[in-house]
Amino acid sequence: MCGIVGYIGHREAYPIILKGLQRLEYRGYDSAGVALYHDGKINVSKTKGKVDDLRKKVESSGNMEGHLGLGHTRWATHGVPNDTNSHPHYSNSGDLVIIHNGIIENYESIKKALIARGYVFHTDTDTEVLVNLIEEVRDKEEVKLGKAVQIALNQVVGAYAIAVFDKNKPDEIVVAKLGSPLAIGIGENEYFVASDASPFIEYTNNAVYLEDEEMAIIRLGKEIKLRKIKDDAIAYPNILELQLNLEEIEKGGYEHFMLKEIYEQPRAILDTYRGRLLADKGLVKMAGIDQNLEKFLNANRIIIVACGTSWHAGLVAEYIFEDLARIPVEVEYASEFRYRNPVITENDVLIAISQSGETADTLAAIKLAKEKGAFVFGVCNVVGSSIARETHAGAYTHAGPEIGVASTKAFTTQITVLTLLALKLASEKGIFSASQFHEILAELENIPGKVEEALKSNNLVAHIADIYKDSTNCLYLGRGYNFPVALEGALKLKEISYIHAEGYPAAEMKHGPIALIDEQMPVVVIATKKGHYEKVVSNIQEINS
Ligand code: GLU
Repeated sequence: MCGIVGYIGHREAYPIILKGLQRLEYRGYDSAGVALYHDGKINVSKTKGKVDDLRKKVESSGNMEGHLGLGHTRWATHGVPNDTNSHPHYSNSGDLVIIHNGIIENYESIKKALIARGYVFHTDTDTEVLVNLIEEVRDKEEVKLGKAVQIALNQVVGAYAIAVFDKNKPDEIVVAKLGSPLAIGIGENEYFVASDASPFIEYTNNAVYLEDEEMAIIRLGKEIKLRKIKDDAIAYPNILELQLNLEEIEKGGYEHFMLKEIYEQPRAILDTYRGRLLADKGLVKMAGIDQNLEKFLNANRIIIVACGTSWHAGLVAEYIFEDLARIPVEVEYASEFRYRNPVITENDVLIAISQSGETADTLAAIKLAKEKGAFVFGVCNVVGSSIARETHAGAYTHAGPEIGVASTKAFTTQITVLTLLALKLASEKGIFSASQFHEILAELENIPGKVEEALKSNNLVAHIADIYKDSTNCLYLGRGYNFPVALEGALKLKEISYIHAEGYPAAEMKHGPIALIDEQMPVVVIATKKGHYEKVVSNIQEINS
């Protein structure tokens, strides 16, 4: 996830882009950049860090002029966050410039082919591959930029919102979308492009939100041309009159970021699967494991270290690893582990989980395990974070920035990555037959849709919350995989509602906590159809009586 902004028209582009990037800061980012067309040249400034660092850089360079420009805040997925990997990116000839939000899954094979045909790469990003592919198509097929973008995108697997322009055609921006958001603002002889309408809301209320697999050719003095990426068929823009205010736009129309992030889960899980879960081929692909398979397969045990919500994801993973991959697992609070004198050997694999990749206790646990010779694997969300750098290998969750302090989509995407990891090991160990494996993968593919379905119970949840909002205590119960989920539920209630809550394994109720149950005590029971359903139902009956 990241923010993109573009402008073409009669105003100076830079102030609009800068303000737009500042408004998109809520999306989270690790670096920022801007490209401005002026006097036949493209001036690019980019930097790791904040939009304000970018402002200082641009202003000290003096290159602020231009009526055409693109700006980007990056949330790195391929290549660490640094000045070079920041967007915008150039094509080899220097003609084309691009900003991109998303992931090009098959960038590696395209990159290899382009290198073989003489292309040179200066960054580690997937985006630089795309801009060069577009350029190659443009030159080889001798087509206009719009057509070149359309042909190139048909060779690409992944997710994107892109904006590209050609310095030889400075009256045009080409944009396209699949899986990442893209809005076009239509003004009086000017156009705006952005991840949402916040960068242009004071200039125009008229906007077109591109649909997936659509692209648009935006030319000054002309109407927007919309096309289907697949077959170049003409599409018709649905011009909306926006009535949202700035704050509403930034939070995607949700009341707060946490809610927005809860609703992002189907997309976030899909992004976590992207390029890894290949259900049709019956395959799980994860570079971090493929290169270190032996370490996992020969491990005596896996030790998972984490804090807070990530620790709960680790507990779920314990069940998953043992169940699917038949490897013994221990789950530790990083803050306890690091201050103990834990027994760690060279045959242990340590998995460290952290959304930010900066959790101090988890980092200390990693250092300790490395000193003792263990192989350390990181699961985090922020590319290039300390944990990503300190571990021997790892897998990113690709959940997009999490702004809400209470973790939500981080939890589900961590479990997603850890499930893929367990399945990868299970398949290497030959635990499942090909058809069983296929079936599991096909089921996993349905998860984002099921999460979407579950989120539709929002009104019911709000109704229940209204009934219990004045409670002072609450119990969350679950068995098996759902026991750590109960712990996570209780943690959320404490953190967000200031109501004391406990998570408990449902069957442990009778060994003490049942004494606390009275008419005032709400009890949330996670009772999924699989996994001891009948037993959970009898726990519920016990509580009722
Ligand atoms: N995949 C691109 C990169 O890592 C874009 C990431 C983003 O959406 O910010 O540079």
